[in-house]
Amino acid sequence: MAELFLIGSATDIMLERLGEKFTIHRAKDMDDPQTWLDEHGAKITYVGTNGHDGVKPAFMAAMPNLKAISCYGVGYDAIDTDAARAKGVVVTHTPNVLNAEVATTAVLLMLSCYREVLRDDAYVRAGRWEAEGNAPLTRSADGQTVGILGLGRIGQAIADKLAPFGTSIVYHSRSKKDVDYKYYDNLTAMARDVDTLICITPGGASTNKIVNREVMDALGPQGTLINVSRGSVVDEAAMISALQDGRLGWAGLDVFEAEPKVPEALRALSNVVLLPHVGSATHETRAAMGALTVDNLLQHLENGTVISPVPECADM
Ligand code: NDP
Repeated sequence: MAELFLIGSATDIMLERLGEKFTIHRAKDMDDPQTWLDEHGAKITYVGTNGHDGVKPAFMAAMPNLKAISCYGVGYDAIDTDAARAKGVVVTHTPNVLNAEVATTAVLLMLSCYREVLRDDAYVRAGRWEAEGNAPLTRSADGQTVGILGLGRIGQAIADKLAPFGTSIVYHSRSKKDVDYKYYDNLTAMARDVDTLICITPGGASTNKIVNREVMDALGPQGTLINVSRGSVVDEAAMISALQDGRLGWAGLDVFEAEPKVPEALRALSNVVLLPHVGSATHETRAAMGALTVDNLLQHLENGTVISPVPECADM
């Protein structure tokens, strides 16, 4: 049996499959995982983790014989892939199997903002429909111009899901893609031209707070900001003041800077829809992600190769 250090949550079926080939050491069952690793880390050859918890540098340093890290999620900004690579540790993630689900979450947030789903739900529950008559009108989500920040695997799935709404899609990323949508090499210029900006880039240094005050002011009082990427991509303090001042119209957010902490000022706003980072969180999609997370570990154990390495480890 190989020795696996497991950080964060795993489904029962993941644990069952892993338990057939690995002795599992769960961080969540330990009083102090760092102390445990300092004592036993040399025997650990595999790590299972997720995009939120990643692998702390001190954890990585305590596992000199590590061979592979399997991340239960596509975003891996919480894992230092350069440090892993330098130690010969391959990092894997779960691309593609969650594209449709995260795209559904983005569309759900956008529609909820336009059609004021939370406001109208509260209106019915409070008995106001009967007492006061019909609810105020909302905005149509059809025929909007939507700017996608990060037209990758999930960004394309969002564009596909929005097509039936008669949406005009434009996008910004570092490089122009081989698609028919209009490309902007400048994010602020794109924000000025769109009704809704949907963020779906990776997190990390290169995207840190790229949706800043200037971008949000360009999106404007009639603009809607949707973030299903990482909380770090949006300057949260600037977003809160823009929403409070009416310089930005609406925001639909699945991710936050210091999640699970969500600022009180944001929770107090009525022009936002807030989700607890559930972009991929359905039974079906988590099962597919879990299967790929386990398959990567089992394949590496069997023959030293993996199915879905992160791009930085693709040639290992
Ligand atoms: P991809 O790698 O397929 O796409 C990422 C896109 O972002 C590419 O188009 C890339 O293009 C662009 N991009 C990268 N860096 C920058 C930058 N600095 N500025 C502008 N554009 C940039 O990734 P996925 O579509 O599979 O996933 C995207 C992200 O979605 C994940 O990394 C994760 O953070 C987030 N996510 C969130 C979930 C949730 O639950 N809310 C669930 C799953 C994923 P280019 O390189 O040309 O810039």
